[in-house]
Amino acid sequence: MIQIRAFTFNPFQENTYLLYDESKEAVIIDAGCSNSYEQEELRDFIQKNELKAVKLLNTHAHIDHVLGNKFIYDEYGLKTHLSSKEMPVFNSAEQTAKLYGLPYDHCNEIEGHIEEGDQVKWGNSSLEILFVPGHSPGHLVFYNADQNFMIGGDVLFRGSIGRTDLPGGDHQTLLNMIREKVFTMDDEMKVYSGHGEPTTVGYEKQYNPFF
Ligand SMILES: [Zn+2]
Repeated sequence: MIQIRAFTFNPFQENTYLLYDESKEAVIIDAGCSNSYEQEELRDFIQKNELKAVKLLNTHAHIDHVLGNKFIYDEYGLKTHLSSKEMPVFNSAEQTAKLYGLPYDHCNEIEGHIEEGDQVKWGNSSLEILFVPGHSPGHLVFYNADQNFMIGGDVLFRGSIGRTDLPGGDHQTLLNMIREKVFTMDDEMKVYSGHGEPTTVGYEKQYNPFF
């Protein structure tokens, strides 16, 4: 049984998710911790619950979602997994950080690419992967059908959708992808977004003003 713990980090109020099960192994998705206080919060939770961080994943590589990657590497020796189509965004993260005036220590290396159809496995658990571009060119969504949830990154928010004005973004693509890949999921499926409170597929189909 996967347990999900959300942390809200950095000036962009980004949600970092820690997923773990009874094996005590944990995956970290979108490490956004950006200062020692936030790093401590994450490390503390892992320690107190006697978890072992075994994988780092990125839904996408916008700066607010990778700010903590270097810390995760230094602390747990984990390099991230992301889509090959997201590499241009990943490779420009340092430049973007400068643009925003954010202190950022870029972790150049990645563990490997993951794409739609692949499965992420750890402990007794697994996640399926969907390719949902539009907010960013290589955006991935992780979901578990048995427990009926998805880690949606910046694709869909409660009452909104991801911005599409950043490099590689495309508004129409995002709308099409949400219709095709997210809105075809179970209405009860819980959506854990990259920002804000969780929502459900059914709620967004009914109330999201973009549709
Ligand atoms: Zn983003």
